[in-house]
Amino acid sequence: MPELPEVETTRQGIEPFLIGKAIGALVCRTDRLRWPIPTNLAELMIGHVCHTLSRRGKYLIAHLPNGHLIIHLGMSGSLRGLFQNLPPKKHDHIDLIFTDGSLLRYHDPRKFGAWLWQQHAPEQHPLLAGLGPEPLSSDFSGDYLYQHAMGRKTAIKNLIMDGRVVVGVGNIYANEALFLAGIRPDRAGSRISRKRMVLLADAIKTVLENAIDQGGTTLRDFVNSHGQPGYFQQQLNVYGRAQQPCRRCGQLLCERRINNRSTVFCANCQH
Ligand code: ZN
Repeated sequence: MPELPEVETTRQGIEPFLIGKAIGALVCRTDRLRWPIPTNLAELMIGHVCHTLSRRGKYLIAHLPNGHLIIHLGMSGSLRGLFQNLPPKKHDHIDLIFTDGSLLRYHDPRKFGAWLWQQHAPEQHPLLAGLGPEPLSSDFSGDYLYQHAMGRKTAIKNLIMDGRVVVGVGNIYANEALFLAGIRPDRAGSRISRKRMVLLADAIKTVLENAIDQGGTTLRDFVNSHGQPGYFQQQLNVYGRAQQPCRRCGQLLCERRINNRSTVFCANCQH
């Protein structure tokens, strides 16, 4: 599933292809993804030029002079730029065609993504309005986490995966960040010192930044490649490694389900 680093890498890969081109047509080969695609979307976009492609959490926002296209990649969505219109393959649901003949193609086997329109302030769209700060921004820090955890019995892993607290920390990155910070995933948020919260906030930034850096090597895949952009695998310390030796101390890693999500940690290094 595309996580924040994949969405950011998509943004960086697609932006230079998209910006400054006039939209000539929109071809939808389905009428809905997770939600119906607005029936007047083509009408709204044709003739306009996208001037910025931004990201908020796992949403991409293409800013046009008359409104904003909000895209979510869902479970299996991907975008790529094509310099000419090749015949669509199965699950190629949407083409945004520019007047120069190039196009942006949306592929999504599970159809759980979204293409939505918001005329005014995109941050006020119901899907975006309640989101917490961006993890890589200065608004997100150890002090911020410490304040939010105060008086809460919730396991720290649930807290950092709650999009109202901070966006874009998916299960893999939560597992990895807690290992780096040496914090047990099931420890109550309120029982973690300010000092350790600083370590955790830094660890979250580090794992996400590393993943984005690794994704940078795949940027060329977003334009004119034959396949779909490949989502990248990074070197993982704990996620998917239950019963394998801890890379730090050698003890076998434990697995526990927290909030029904696989959680792997080292009972020796994390407390
Ligand atoms: Zn260990």
